[in-house]
Amino acid sequence: MKPSPIIDTLRAQAADTDLFRLALDQALAYMDTVTDRNVFPTPEAVSALEGFREPIPEAPCDPAETLKQLHALGSPGTVAQTGGRYYGFVNGGAVPGSLAAKWLADVWDQNAALYVISPTVSVLEELCETWIVDLLGLPTGTAAGFVGGSSTATLCGLAAGRNQLLKNLGWDAGTQGLFGAPELRVVLGEGAHSTVYKALSILGLGSGRIEQVPMDAQGRIREDLIPEPDERTLLILQAGNVNSGAFDAFEGICTKARKAGAWVHVDGAFGLWAAASPRFAEMTRGMALADSWSADAHKTLNAPYDCGIILCRNREALASALHMTGSYIVYSQQRDNMLYTPDMSRRGRAVELWATLKSLGRQGVAELVENLHEKAAYFAESLQAEGFRVLNQVAFNQVLVACGSSAETVETLKSVQASGEMWCGGATWEGQPVIRISVCSYRTDAEDIRRSVAALVQARKTAVENQGV
Ligand SMILES: *Cc1c(COP(=O)(O)O)cnc(C)c1O
Repeated sequence: MKPSPIIDTLRAQAADTDLFRLALDQALAYMDTVTDRNVFPTPEAVSALEGFREPIPEAPCDPAETLKQLHALGSPGTVAQTGGRYYGFVNGGAVPGSLAAKWLADVWDQNAALYVISPTVSVLEELCETWIVDLLGLPTGTAAGFVGGSSTATLCGLAAGRNQLLKNLGWDAGTQGLFGAPELRVVLGEGAHSTVYKALSILGLGSGRIEQVPMDAQGRIREDLIPEPDERTLLILQAGNVNSGAFDAFEGICTKARKAGAWVHVDGAFGLWAAASPRFAEMTRGMALADSWSADAHKTLNAPYDCGIILCRNREALASALHMTGSYIVYSQQRDNMLYTPDMSRRGRAVELWATLKSLGRQGVAELVENLHEKAAYFAESLQAEGFRVLNQVAFNQVLVACGSSAETVETLKSVQASGEMWCGGATWEGQPVIRISVCSYRTDAEDIRRSVAALVQARKTAVENQGV
């Protein structure tokens, strides 16, 4: 072998603890200031990101200098999502114990694919599976796969459902493909998330040949308008409408679908965790009668990114849809994680999921989701007291807000997003632009909400003054 100075340098860096201490110091400095800084980065911080742009360096760069650049340019350009005044999309905070566990797991750098590649991750995935099934009251034996997010989790659930329905009709989609297969029907509510349409399109089920069912004023699927399910029906329900947070009426719908031999998938990206709290028992009743469920741990559970979960009552249906037999891989008697995801190699995200569940316990998960709901309700009341209109019943953690006119709503949103005091997104609700607030972090407290309401009041004032709306 010819000598390589670069490889020698890398070997020396691996033993250099100062490099890792520098990263630790930077991370701690970030954590110290995240609650005080602008929620959305300042225009200056965003412009400074241009400093990253350069051609690929020809020669190796010093990793300490690289870290310094990352902290100097990168940290100020982040969105302060782990602070208390971020309400964008449905993005959760990160429970401290889970973030710390993730740091350690980063150093392990495990590949979660197989038991023989990481016994630790295999055992922790198995535990997370058992605990979540128990916590959410799902059928014993339900399988869990740990993926990047709900988009992939939904894809997995619908792949399992598609193949199982076809199998029941005497067709093996895995080997025969879809050409000439019996035709399936896809039924969903108008309020379904865009990632559901994407999954249907990827799966060859056609995002444009769906039977769409109107929703009620809160964003729930209209039970009375759902077409009669049969053994060719893939039905998609929601635990948490992405705008209003409303839950579909599972019990009646799932009971009927089960009898007909249909497959029901529940998109519970942020709402599935409500099943851990007795307070939301009414809302989640009958949810366990479905066949598959998708959820995110990185939303209302406040695990760090990224962690999506596919849960499937029929373990074999999930595994057979997602993996190929006949390759060089020998499966073990232990849990081989790749059986339940489309990935082979991936990181061991169950480590921080396990740490999140340990940090909270059954009681903690219940309190977390109840607390998010209480904060959302307080936010809504405070806004109403200031003359804003709240358009949804705050069933869970989502609040839809409008001002006097659509133009005023749009300008108020723009102004508050630029303020740095708080950040939330917008949406269209019943044809009107709305301000969409998702209370999703354990970190948010009453003072954060008071400051955020004040910021919205100020933004509306600015909007009216500047735009004459
Ligand atoms: C966030 C969300 C998704 C997509 O989840 P990702 O984790 O972003 O892939 C799907 N459905 C609903 C209801 C969501 O809130």
